[in-house]
Amino acid sequence: MKPRQTNYFSICNACKLCCCQNARPPITQNRRKQIEEYLLTQELRVDKPFETTEYVFPRETRDGFCVFFDEETRRCRVYAVKPETCVAGPITFDINLQTGKIEFYLKFERICPLAGTLKKDMVALEKHVKSAKRELLTLVGELDAEALSAILQIDEPETFKIGEALLNKGVLERLRNPRARRKGSVH
Ligand code: SF4
Ligand code: SF4
Repeated sequence: MKPRQTNYFSICNACKLCCCQNARPPITQNRRKQIEEYLLTQELRVDKPFETTEYVFPRETRDGFCVFFDEETRRCRVYAVKPETCVAGPITFDINLQTGKIEFYLKFERICPLAGTLKKDMVALEKHVKSAKRELLTLVGELDAEALSAILQIDEPETFKIGEALLNKGVLERLRNPRARRKGSVH
């Protein structure tokens, strides 16, 4: 399987600010299928891997760690098929309904050492931005409006804007429909 991103294990393994705790990355139907197939083919046993509130995300342990996080190796057990926001991190997104654009944000270095490394290496940053955009556009294209609206309500403090792109009209229409608007706080 072709890697979806550069591997940053050396930075993330040394990180004390684990972003796999209280992460709740959104899971589309397609992603869920891929993770379930991966668990089967890799013979990984994970009891009840997903939880659903307003959207689907990997179940959390009592300490709030993602059920796919291996606390011994400090690596993701489903790395090859991990959720789109996990590939994109430390880049996050928001949707601006007024401009019809998806906006991309980079976390501050103090909450993510990888962000600091990327900021100092423009070539690596550009490469990562490209894969993050691809993953996040796939995600917003596949999530239903209720799930996407719920995700957009989650605050992402300590980030700064690094770019934006026009959003597919279908996604905007889904978000603008009254049922989605009741649940969301998109601006
Ligand atoms: S992405 Fe950032 S916060 Fe998450 S483990 Fe890596 S360095 Fe730490
Ligand atoms: S899916 Fe993997 S990378 Fe994403 S939060 Fe869970 S353990 Fe971390």
